[in-house]
Amino acid sequence: METEVLKLNDYINTGIISEEDLVKIKEAAAVLKEGGLVAFPTETVYGLGGDARRPDVSKRIYAAKGRPSDNPLIVHISSMDELYPLVKSVPVDALKLSRVFWPGPMTMVMDKSDVIPHETTGGLDTVAVRMPVHPVATKLIELSGVPVAAPSANRSGRPSTTTAEHCIEDLMGRIDLILDGGPCDIGVESTIVDLSGEVTLLRPGAVTMEMLTEVLGNEPLRDKAVVRPLNEGEKPKAPGMKYRHYAPSAPLTVVRQKDGGDEVRKVYEAINDMVSEWTVEGKKVEVICTRECADALHLPEGVLVRTFGSEGESGEIAKNLFAVLRDTDSDSVDSIIAEGFGEKDLFLAIMNRLKKAAGWQIVET
Ligand code: AMP
Ligand code: MG
Repeated sequence: METEVLKLNDYINTGIISEEDLVKIKEAAAVLKEGGLVAFPTETVYGLGGDARRPDVSKRIYAAKGRPSDNPLIVHISSMDELYPLVKSVPVDALKLSRVFWPGPMTMVMDKSDVIPHETTGGLDTVAVRMPVHPVATKLIELSGVPVAAPSANRSGRPSTTTAEHCIEDLMGRIDLILDGGPCDIGVESTIVDLSGEVTLLRPGAVTMEMLTEVLGNEPLRDKAVVRPLNEGEKPKAPGMKYRHYAPSAPLTVVRQKDGGDEVRKVYEAINDMVSEWTVEGKKVEVICTRECADALHLPEGVLVRTFGSEGESGEIAKNLFAVLRDTDSDSVDSIIAEGFGEKDLFLAIMNRLKKAAGWQIVET
């Protein structure tokens, strides 16, 4: 299959959709309407969209990603009116959250209506719905006139895509069209909240636990898969959380302070020690960390360092995280060490992705 790439030059340069960009978005919307597959930018990561009502389209999304078919897709809408046909009813807590966080990086799971087939929900009777705030995504969904099922636009198991170049790497020749709207702002996937039963956080994101708690008046539960590896036979509520994810080719170990620690120097020392030890063993090691950490390390010659942002700058770190994980693949190293963090606010989402990328290998100082 030939994949067309349409670049939204004016939007990328100015943040405003021009007439010329709009023509391209209309073309992409027509592809969605006809049952085709389109990768498009959102504020979180790129999505791989198709008509959520059509079982044949969902099957093609799974095939293009190489995704196991029991891992449900998130359905994207552009206005509140589009929500009601997709669900049995809207719980009052969902309404509360939607008023504050929609459009935005939050997905809500509710009981599905018959409009959404089981092929789209991985066999579940619930559907995950999100209203993105990215102007290109919103325009595309609105013009397509269909609910848009869109998982992250990466090959299954790889880090999510945050630029059109990543989408080209993973999906060229496998989908109809890629809309290039430049790099994504947030960089980690949406927060997922389950409202089909007791309110439960299924995946942390830029709408943080602290923000949800403030709006709901009490703290939601957290699914076990958010914070720890699952035991054999244990099922997460978000089926996607059980798969190895975001994983670079080389094994990755996260090093951070024990909860409540305030001596980041100890993390730097531990990274130094691990790198030295592994280098002596003849391994090619790479470190991914903050600029402050990179400056403080005394590494043997030949050890690669990639930085994902500055200490404490969770927004910057989230935005760069997946691109840096992807970059490590081209460095062909034997082992990667990542600087880790405490789990406040957006750092809960960052650590969730890092721990999964590490297969939960974590060292605490
Ligand atoms: P992705 O689109 O690649 O970011 O993955 C979507 C995530 O949403 C996966 O982890 C899914 O398991 C989760 N998800 C989608 N639909 C549901 C649902 N109905 N119930 C629980 N989790 C869901
Ligand atoms: Mg994904």
